[in-house]
Amino acid sequence: MVNNYYEERKRMVELLRRQGISDVVLHAMMRVKRHLFLPPNLSDQAYGDYPLPIGEGQTISAPHMVALMCDYLNLNKGEKVLEIGAGSGYHAAVIAELIGEEGQVYSIERKKWLVEFSTENLKRAGYKNVMVILDDGTLGLPEHAPYDKISVTCAAPDVPPPLLEQLKTGGKMVIPIGRYRQTLYMVEKKNGVKRERKCDVVFVPLVGRYGFHE
Ligand code: SAH
Repeated sequence: MVNNYYEERKRMVELLRRQGISDVVLHAMMRVKRHLFLPPNLSDQAYGDYPLPIGEGQTISAPHMVALMCDYLNLNKGEKVLEIGAGSGYHAAVIAELIGEEGQVYSIERKKWLVEFSTENLKRAGYKNVMVILDDGTLGLPEHAPYDKISVTCAAPDVPPPLLEQLKTGGKMVIPIGRYRQTLYMVEKKNGVKRERKCDVVFVPLVGRYGFHE
C-alpha cells in the first residue's frame, strides 16, 4: 500500500479549519509530518484527529488539541518557548514551525526513553531549534529563563510555582489542571496573574515535585 500522507494531512487541516483554528497555526500543522512522530505500526493513523498511544501509558495529543493550545499561546517568530512533556516531540515541532528558526523550544521530559524517541523524531523531521532535556519539568528550566510562552502538555494539580516564576512579564502559559476532570487554563502574567478557563480536556498526569506523585 502506498501512503499518501500529504493528502491525508491536507484533509486533517481542512477539518481543523472548520473548527476555527487560525490560518497561521493551520499552516504550521500542514508543515509538520505527524507520521514521523509515531511508532511505525501506527503511522498510517497519523492524520486522524485523535490521541494515539506512544508506549507506557503515554500519548501523543490529538491534532486539534495541539492546534488549539498553539492558538491560545499566540506564538510569534523568534520567541523562546518552554514545553513540559516532550512525549513524541510532535507538539514541540508545531511550536518550532510557529516561532521559526530564530526561535527556540526547550522541552522537558521525565522519561529517558521518550527523550530519546522525541529527539530522534525531531532530528528525522529536520527540526534544529528544539532541545529535549531529561528532567522534572515541574521545576522548569531556570538556566534559559525567562520564557515568552510555556506549554504544559500533561495535567497538573495546580500551576507549579517555578513555571510561573520563569514566565516573562507579559508572557502566556497554557496548562491543563485537574486529576480526573481537567480544565485547560490560560495563565497570563501581566499586572499580577490572570487565569482563564478555556475548555475541558484529557491529558496524562504531570508527575513530579510540583505535580502528582506516582
Ligand atoms: N507533547 C507530547 C505529548 C505529551 S504526553 C507530544 O506531542 O507527543 C505527556 C508527557 O509528559 C509524557 O511523555 C510524560 O512522560 C511527560 N511528563 C509527565 N510528567 C512530567 C514532568 N514532571 N516533567 C517532564 N515530563 C513529564
